[in-house]
Amino acid sequence: MLIHWSILLHLVSLLSVRHQQSLLALFPLSPEETDLLDRHPVGFDSHCHLDRICRDCHLPLDASFSEICQKATPLDEFIVDLQGAVGIFCDPETYPTPQEVENWGKQGVTVCVGLHPKKTATEQEFQQLQQLLKHPGVAGLGEVGLDRTEPVGQWDGQMERLKTVLQFVQEKQVLVLHCRGMEAESSEVYSCLRYMLMSMVKREQLIHLHCFSGSVATARQWIEVFPNTYFGFTKMVTVLPKEQREAVKQMEEGRLLLETDAPYFHFFGHRRSTPALIGMVANEVAKIRGVDWMHLLEVAVANAQRLYLKRLPPQ
Ligand SMILES: [Zn+2]
Repeated sequence: MLIHWSILLHLVSLLSVRHQQSLLALFPLSPEETDLLDRHPVGFDSHCHLDRICRDCHLPLDASFSEICQKATPLDEFIVDLQGAVGIFCDPETYPTPQEVENWGKQGVTVCVGLHPKKTATEQEFQQLQQLLKHPGVAGLGEVGLDRTEPVGQWDGQMERLKTVLQFVQEKQVLVLHCRGMEAESSEVYSCLRYMLMSMVKREQLIHLHCFSGSVATARQWIEVFPNTYFGFTKMVTVLPKEQREAVKQMEEGRLLLETDAPYFHFFGHRRSTPALIGMVANEVAKIRGVDWMHLLEVAVANAQRLYLKRLPPQ
């Protein structure tokens, strides 16, 4: 009975850490075995709000990326070796300073700055945004866009602010778009945003359509007008109606990005989300597409690096 591995493991766990360590020293693992034990698939979160996670978790705004990620950790089977994330700063009250943009960069966080459609900005804040976009460490403008879940009275204001900020986007920067409608008219708001952009940005513009919830037809129309669009998927895919789930299923691999949109879209058993949960997002999207989650994670990491680090169109 003593040689059964689970009993041996249990007995070892009863020893003090010092005794466990001396046992390890007696029977050391080979470098290959250690490597195998430590290895997790590589992950990258293409869209999260680090400032909002800090606010929700009562962390200081200068908390480190790894400190933030510890605020919600995944189930063991979905642990990933997180290479970094795209940090979206779209609330004027927490825009990063140029120094902070650099600090995030050193931690693997690619910074985008924008103005969330639910937010307004003062003249001074618009200027601050425009200045920040000139910083070489800022990879994109976003998120910006339209949100039709807000009262009708606010729609004109959203359009005006969007027109203003679109003028700030720099050559080779990514445009990160938020596009949300009431469920039934979701294709209508995508059309509305597309028409607006047609007169304001180039056809070749690199676009990240964040938290995509449109149909196959919407995705097709979008690609026709803006061929360099990537589509981001969050945990929201689990609650999409059939027609929209079909778009998740049929999306070309080369355009697909995975996002936690943390602190939002938390998983059962968590009160909030963090970039550390990107493996669990990969699992949900992979289930819909009928593929292995680790494969999908690998594809999404390559796409995110192509878009945000190399600033290249989809493959
Ligand atoms: Zn977001």
